[in-house]
Amino acid sequence: MSLFSKLKSGSEALETAKQVQDETHKTQTEIELLKDKVEKLTQICHSLWQIIMENLHLEEAVLEEKVKEIEELDEAPPVQCVSCGRPIHIKKRKCVFCGAGQPDRGFFNTL
Ligand SMILES: [Zn+2]
Repeated sequence: MSLFSKLKSGSEALETAKQVQDETHKTQTEIELLKDKVEKLTQICHSLWQIIMENLHLEEAVLEEKVKEIEELDEAPPVQCVSCGRPIHIKKRKCVFCGAGQPDRGFFNTL
């Protein structure tokens, strides 16, 4: 390898390292922003739950039961599209393959 080639590959490697460093910094910044958003959303959810609990005189167990119900829905086996028969998630309101509307399969059938 000639000296010129070595210098060229060395400067390319340096440029690549700088790009990776920039991307890493951007990713770290995005992660921090997402952490802040998650924290704010958690606080909002907690506040909303407090308001609902106080106004409707509900117990903490009601929330826990609903969370469990939603988690079970996420783990639910796929259902068949009423039009094309392909497997789709139980929460889907429209088939991702053919776009056909799906029957209401529960209150969380909103996607
Ligand atoms: Zn379909």
